[in-house]
Amino acid sequence: MEVALEGKKPDSIIREERPLVDKNVTYIENSVDMIDLNQRVVFTADGKKLAYDYIILATGSVPDPDSIAGLRAASLNFHTSTEDSLKIWDALQQFRKGHIVLGIAGVPHKCPPSPNEGTFLLDDYLRKSGKRDDAKITFVTPYPRPYPAEAMSKVVEPLFQKRGIDVVTFFNLESVDPTKKELYSLEGDTLSYDLLIMVPPHRGADVIIKSGLGDKDGWIPTDKYTMNVKGYDNAYAIGDCTDIPVSKTGVTAHLEAKVAANNIISSIENLGQTHKYTGRINCPFEMGSGKAAFVVGSYEKPVKEIHPSRIRHVMKRGFERIYWRSLTGNLDWLLDTYFGATDIVENSKPTVVSSK
Ligand SMILES: Cc1cc2nc3c(=O)[nH]c(=O)nc-3n(C[C@H](O)[C@H](O)[C@H](O)COP(=O)(O)OP(=O)(O)OC[C@H]3O[C@@H](n4cnc5c(N)ncnc54)[C@H](O)[C@@H]3O)c2cc1C
Repeated sequence: MEVALEGKKPDSIIREERPLVDKNVTYIENSVDMIDLNQRVVFTADGKKLAYDYIILATGSVPDPDSIAGLRAASLNFHTSTEDSLKIWDALQQFRKGHIVLGIAGVPHKCPPSPNEGTFLLDDYLRKSGKRDDAKITFVTPYPRPYPAEAMSKVVEPLFQKRGIDVVTFFNLESVDPTKKELYSLEGDTLSYDLLIMVPPHRGADVIIKSGLGDKDGWIPTDKYTMNVKGYDNAYAIGDCTDIPVSKTGVTAHLEAKVAANNIISSIENLGQTHKYTGRINCPFEMGSGKAAFVVGSYEKPVKEIHPSRIRHVMKRGFERIYWRSLTGNLDWLLDTYFGATDIVENSKPTVVSSK
């Protein structure tokens, strides 16, 4: 998004994964062709067969602009690649005046705040470049309000109003006509645009669909507490690839990874512990003018109303800087302190109390 709407260079946001891998881990860079959870094997695209005792699936989600007629040809987006994000930045440099429609083409999608964030940053860009007076911005969504969770929508709505951003709700996108520059909804509404930036609907990864491990959209049926793939004691799924009812964000993937790893350790070492994810989410949310909020909630606690501030923006950008370093383990304590208990432990073995 920072490439698309703030003109950042892609190199400044890309990080290498390889240096994060512990020296005790064998890292195989390959494409997986099939996963057989019953036979406990994974087949790679170059024909290798890898047997396993435990597996964690983390195949992510795939933006799917082809699932809506006309969408790929008509719309730019900042969810598919840095190249596609650069196309938005280029289009904004060319833009002089007209109607920009930005919104949600379908759900679910990665990072629930991203469509709203994009709209705030677009408004910021147009103001800074002196083009805002000649631009109309409309945010379009299938939800009944600008942000899906009501508490955060109460924060977003007045800010959109203040910035003169129109909102069209209950718009379930059915198709787009790139020639006429019109969006059509399932409800029979039409919306015209000059420049279109839509977050595409997402689906599960091809390998999950091909291996028959997903539901109709390719999401893996997953226990929302233990992160087990349903029906498999030795298989886990984390992050965007699951069907669990929490936001598809990196923070979620990170917290779920710890739960899955702890459950595997408990099984190998026969500790009798079941680790359970609390459903904690914590999505950073840019709200323009150098201010940000966070979307915070869990299975037990609904999303709360958090207003944007400068300090939250600084925290978000600071976190982006330290996160990669934290993954080598040295800064785990910092994340644990910030997130609190996100991994609840249940013991099935009785505690032994010494008589001495
Ligand atoms: C614009 C935008 C802004 C965002 N901002 C934030 C944010 O501020 N904070 C936040 O927490 N999250 C944010 N997110 C969401 C976050 O990027 C994702 O939720 C997160 O990356 C999910 O992690 P994952 O590991 O589940 O999947 P991914 O990061 O997508 O990783 C899945 C991996 O699996 C690989 N894979 C898939 N199939 C195969 C196969 N057959 N063989 C081999 N490899 C395979 C893929 O190549 C990929 O590397 C944002 C997303 C977008 C698009």
